[in-house]
Amino acid sequence: MATEKRFKYVILGGGVAAGYAAREFAKQGVKPGELAIISKEQVAPYERPALSKGYLFPHNAARLPGFHTCVGSAGERLLPEWYSDKGIELILSTEIVKADLASKTLTSSDGATFTYETLLIATGSSVIKLTDFGVQGAEANNILYLRDIVDADKLVAAMQAKKDGKAVVVGGGYIGLELSAALKTNNFDVTMVYPEPWCMPRLFTAGLANFYEGYYANKGINIVKGTVAVGFDADTNGDVTAVKLRNESVLEADIVIVGVGGRPLINLFKGQVAEEKGGLKTDAFFETSVPGVYAIGDVAAFPLKLYNETRRVEHVDHARKSAEQAVKAIKAKESGESLAEYDYLPYFYSRSFDIAWQFYGDNVGDDVLFGDNDPTVAKPKFGTYWVKDGKVVGVFLEGGSAEENQAIAKVARAQPPVADVDALKKEGLDFAAKV
Ligand code: FAD
Repeated sequence: MATEKRFKYVILGGGVAAGYAAREFAKQGVKPGELAIISKEQVAPYERPALSKGYLFPHNAARLPGFHTCVGSAGERLLPEWYSDKGIELILSTEIVKADLASKTLTSSDGATFTYETLLIATGSSVIKLTDFGVQGAEANNILYLRDIVDADKLVAAMQAKKDGKAVVVGGGYIGLELSAALKTNNFDVTMVYPEPWCMPRLFTAGLANFYEGYYANKGINIVKGTVAVGFDADTNGDVTAVKLRNESVLEADIVIVGVGGRPLINLFKGQVAEEKGGLKTDAFFETSVPGVYAIGDVAAFPLKLYNETRRVEHVDHARKSAEQAVKAIKAKESGESLAEYDYLPYFYSRSFDIAWQFYGDNVGDDVLFGDNDPTVAKPKFGTYWVKDGKVVGVFLEGGSAEENQAIAKVARAQPPVADVDALKKEGLDFAAKV
């Protein structure tokens, strides 16, 4: 018979936001049996960014339990035992297929039901697949995507099966860049393909991309720009052998990795919750249009106070902080206390090979490149300020020390005025140090 369980609080989803929400619940006080996490993954929440970085190292690769939340922000590592010690129920390998917010009931694929008083939606994103668009041959073996640990294990297995082979990475975003580096480090012959004029165009300017493309080329990665994959060939086993491009060239491939973006997972709530910007609209406490239902992490479209507009942010720092804010808000409501509005400074980072960058703020307005972005320098340090309405609103820095990264964060938050853009370019990082 299908089971029925009742909780005071349910977190739907078992990713980054879920792990940080559980920690905050424990901090604020939660009684045994009050809280459950329901996740379709088989494992307790973990730091997802590790999957495209340490998880793919050829030696001493990161493995669970090493990167369960909340180690990514230097916090306590929440092992499965932590949840049981706190009386938090981890309901794993359980996919919710129906959410009825009117009756406060979730139903799983095997018919179990879960009722709640307060729900936190933390379902994150799913990857966009080439099969979604009917790309010819896209169902071949070894055409891979990366969102969760099952995907990462498939990639590790494929790298072992096709040792020293040829890899094609479709997509020039940060996933494409990080995975190209991982494949190269694992001794694959790597080609990246993307339609844009340069990599990561959503954040990188031409000047920034010039460094990364040059750096990758120096590492032996081939880059094919301005075209897309339109089909794939496979052998008699169904394994991919080639990628056909719109420009009519063909790339041999033993592994193809596709990183062309994601979509927030909000289908379960269609017609029940107000939406905006492709996500679930929330207030500054992450409560949705349905009282008692909160949305955190990738799915939340929240008021970004600093820019006075609604945004969705698909980055790990926001997943952590939105989770903490929502739990604080739930607890403050219960005790009748007040809580300050969420006041987020967008922050995003990436690492590959031995380079690492951080970005804070908003990349709008005029961009001012500073430092030496020559891809051949031994220890690169350069960046970009974005200046809008005479103020610095965003800063990117490659190769910054902890102190320098703190300084650029401060600039993006303070938005200091800039009278002379040429002087800012000349001053470079010294400008940030003075703010
Ligand atoms: P997720 O962490 O994706 O968790 C969602 C959870 O919900 C998953 O456990 C999923 O299985 C579960 N779920 C979904 N639907 C259901 C359902 N119906 N029933 C049950 N469970 C369900 N960000 C950065 O800032 N820097 C980085 O370097 C970086 N690297 C990344 C590398 C990779 C490979 C990926 C995939 C993402 C990376 N990100 C990075 C983005 C960051 O990881 C996400 O923004 C973050 O994980 C969002 O947290 P979340 O809790 O909203 O969603």
